[in-house]
Amino acid sequence: MRGLRTALVEQRDFAFGTSSRSSRLLHGGIRYLAQGRIGLVHEASVEKTILHRIAPHLAAPLPFVFPTFRQNPKWKLWQLMFGVKLYDLLCGGRNLGSSSWMDARETVESVQGLSADGLKGAVRYFDGLTNDARLVLDTLRSASDHGAVLLNYARFTSGKREEMWRCEIEADTRFTIQTRTVVNATGPWADGLPHSAVQLRLTKGIHLVVERSRLPVSDAIVMTEGSRILFAIPWGERTILGTTDTDYDGSLSEVFADPDDVNYVLRIANAHFPSAKLCVDDVISAWAGLRPLIADRKGRPSDISRSHEIKSPEPNWWDVAGGKLTTCRLMAEQTVDRLIAATELPRSACSTADEPLLSSVTFSGITPPEITPEAVRHFCQHEWARHLDDVMIRRTSWHYYHRDAAELAIQVSTWMAEVLGWDAGVTAEELRRYQGLPRVTGAQTRR
Ligand SMILES: Cc1cc2nc3c(=O)[nH]c(=O)nc-3n(C[C@H](O)[C@H](O)[C@H](O)COP(=O)(O)OP(=O)(O)OC[C@H]3O[C@@H](n4cnc5c(N)ncnc54)[C@H](O)[C@@H]3O)c2cc1C
Repeated sequence: MRGLRTALVEQRDFAFGTSSRSSRLLHGGIRYLAQGRIGLVHEASVEKTILHRIAPHLAAPLPFVFPTFRQNPKWKLWQLMFGVKLYDLLCGGRNLGSSSWMDARETVESVQGLSADGLKGAVRYFDGLTNDARLVLDTLRSASDHGAVLLNYARFTSGKREEMWRCEIEADTRFTIQTRTVVNATGPWADGLPHSAVQLRLTKGIHLVVERSRLPVSDAIVMTEGSRILFAIPWGERTILGTTDTDYDGSLSEVFADPDDVNYVLRIANAHFPSAKLCVDDVISAWAGLRPLIADRKGRPSDISRSHEIKSPEPNWWDVAGGKLTTCRLMAEQTVDRLIAATELPRSACSTADEPLLSSVTFSGITPPEITPEAVRHFCQHEWARHLDDVMIRRTSWHYYHRDAAELAIQVSTWMAEVLGWDAGVTAEELRRYQGLPRVTGAQTRR
């Protein structure tokens, strides 16, 4: 779009990393407002409204009800009342909806099953709900329409700076790409790449999916524990619960919700909705992701800044790290601005804030598409799906949405086999790989 020739390599599937494991919110971050990070909130709030404009199918206005309780003095109603009005203004005065507040009686009437014990009232404000992996995929489809070359299952292994950068790539075969500039945008992996100067602190966050009928929220609900906040987010016929924020030093590729995480989230949800009596058996699915936070070894994980950093430690090598899903477009714009300024590349203005992400939308949205052979054919032929989990998880979220995902995967594998020419051996291997994905475990608290 700005006259540069661009290629992107991804070591696994597109959106394999954190960008398919978030809370799926486009938000300024009401929590950061409480920490006084006005600039960060303003930046992300404006981006939230831009994504709503350029990709409305992936940015639905979502009201949040934030109740306050006598037992938790960290969150005071009067402060939140002031905060949500400021929050509206930080979007440039055009938030996705206008904020308001309720007294305790109005709050229990509006939020079915919410604990009335110590309830003081609530504020109601707006953010956006997205589908993180679809946002990545539709951004890539847009990039591809504009001439970018995209390769999944292709890993950058090393780079050598000569007149150009010679980058070694390991895919089905090994090959070299010669390029003027390299951008290291590898999230939690960013500090491990050769030539990287990034320093990260990783924290893990998990989410659980339960039937909406088990926690029938119509607005997203903010649940608090001390200064931490968690969400119950309506997602079609399901409710998403999350998240946690704990330091992490395990495998980057295999990140799971462990029993302590699951029990913690259920405990907080049950404290706010005591009659729900949610237990592990209610959990349809879970995901876990790593926040690639700019290192600050001191301080609690939830206090570390979510801002991003763009740095060039070597000529024509750029590290882009930190940030949020909500600010992905802005991070890309600023990175390209910086690398154009540092080279003799032709200058041109960025137009991604104004152009629709896609001219026509097929099989993409916030909730999963219908389960059809046509959808599966589309993902294989037009969205680079190569493995069963590419379709089940990142193209569709069927894996997270459907309790019978394992049986569904058998049907999907036969459709993929037809399109991709898999024989019986490959199909069986794909099913084995899919069935090896982690299941939800936790202390068995029964209803
Ligand atoms: C629990 C949780 C909840 C969150 N919720 C929200 C939210 O609601 N809203 C929000 O705005 N933000 C949220 N975030 C933050 C947001 O998800 C992340 O900031 C964002 O997804 C990071 O994207 P990324 O591209 O930097 O990293 P990733 O999405 O991890 O992408 C990096 C990619 O690089 C690939 N890679 C690594 N090494 C190589 C290599 N050598 N060669 C090729 N490819 C490589 C990886 O496979 C990976 O897919 C959340 C984060 C977490 C953990």
